[in-house]
Amino acid sequence: MKIAMIGTGYVGLVSGVCFSDFGHDVVCVDKNPDKIAMLEAGEVPIFEPGLEALIEKNVAAGRLSFTTDLAAAVDGAEAVFIAVGTPTRRGDGHADLTYVMAAAEEIAQALTGYAVVVTKSTVPVGTNRQVKQVISRANPKAEFDVASNPEFLREGAAIDDFMRPDRVVVGVQNDRAAQVMAEIYRPLFLRDFPIVTTDLESAEMIKYAANAFLATKITFINEIAALCERVGADIKQVSKGMGLDGRIGNKFLHAGPGYGGSCFPKDTKALARIGQDYSMPMQITETVIKVNEETRRRMVEKIMDMMDGHLAGKTVAVLGVTFKPNTDDMREAPSLTIVPALIGAGARVRVVDPQGRREGEALLPGVQWVDDAYKAAQKADALVILTEWNEFRALDLKRLARKMTTPALADLRNIYSARDAKRAGFVHYVSIGRSDYT
Ligand code: NAD
Repeated sequence: MKIAMIGTGYVGLVSGVCFSDFGHDVVCVDKNPDKIAMLEAGEVPIFEPGLEALIEKNVAAGRLSFTTDLAAAVDGAEAVFIAVGTPTRRGDGHADLTYVMAAAEEIAQALTGYAVVVTKSTVPVGTNRQVKQVISRANPKAEFDVASNPEFLREGAAIDDFMRPDRVVVGVQNDRAAQVMAEIYRPLFLRDFPIVTTDLESAEMIKYAANAFLATKITFINEIAALCERVGADIKQVSKGMGLDGRIGNKFLHAGPGYGGSCFPKDTKALARIGQDYSMPMQITETVIKVNEETRRRMVEKIMDMMDGHLAGKTVAVLGVTFKPNTDDMREAPSLTIVPALIGAGARVRVVDPQGRREGEALLPGVQWVDDAYKAAQKADALVILTEWNEFRALDLKRLARKMTTPALADLRNIYSARDAKRAGFVHYVSIGRSDYT
């Protein structure tokens, strides 16, 4: 099957590459010529484990190519995927559909025979119908159907998530489109991964509902963690005791500095906005957004309290700035709130992150980048763990403490314990939802 993938970002690139690995002929399109030039030169513009090897394999097999020429990619394609960004629109929280609609216009002009135009981007209910209208208006002769196929992959584990999904959701209006979609996902269907076929609106809704639910789960445990700190309970034990209940499940029950990333913040805001538009306020989601913002603010207070409120002239080493491990994505990362707050309070901030520097340099002005945790700790007054990269999980705490002017550790991912820190010589240790000492 011939597939065109419009948008070669975290979702479009991974999806395109995985479809080519299924055996389809895939052309990935992006309007950013630098991205396409890199891909054509065998380089990968994002960090995603396993992606480079999979690209190399499928390019060599002749099933995968890259172009800026949308019309050439769409010509003869049986399915055209839209995987462009849908960021928060400035000012009102709505999903910005400018890129989706611009892509739809371009696709309309380029269609040469029957194709299914599939929206993979996360879009509000009603968008697929709007895409259909835009295409029909721009090219009344176009022979096509639309389909909604929201994506659930997680950055950092994207290939495995795509190849072994919990489910694939496909929203369609007729059998013809359903058959094309079934053909595309046949390799997964044959391996018994469930394909949920729905109408367009339900597919669009599933994505927002799923993301808002996950953001709620994270926020709930963060709020419970804050209460644990007051009442003297230990959030790790509480999460374990809760998560073993099959109705609750143990995933997304790790307390931390608040959710971030390219999806949860914008998708919760968009869902809240959709609720307002339809006079059905999403009160839980609105509260989640508010509590998550408070959680981030509390992190800054935690660090400040650990340092007795005196940050002026102090050096703070921050370990991890990407929104989670195994990605270079900095969108809405907690570091983007916490690091500027530390600098604002007069601290000098040193940063180390295995993949974050390329994106982070522009986003975190005024920090000093170093390449390992021990260098970051040299004569520092505080160490803050913000992202739980594997290489920060087994640090030699004694060695770190010896290097610091004031051995103080804010472990905002609960990787270590007060006992570990005390033994290693840290004079202060703060974490989330557990007993600390300052
Ligand atoms: P991204 O910003 O990484 O990539 C979007 C790409 O689309 C960019 O490279 C941009 O240049 C390109 N583009 C925009 N307009 C174009 C056009 N007209 N023609 C060709 N290329 C065009 O975005 P992303 O993180 O991959 O997200 C894409 C969509 O998938 C969003 O709706 C997002 O909510 C959704 N999603 C993302 C994730 C994730 O983990 N990142 C997971 C699930 C769903």
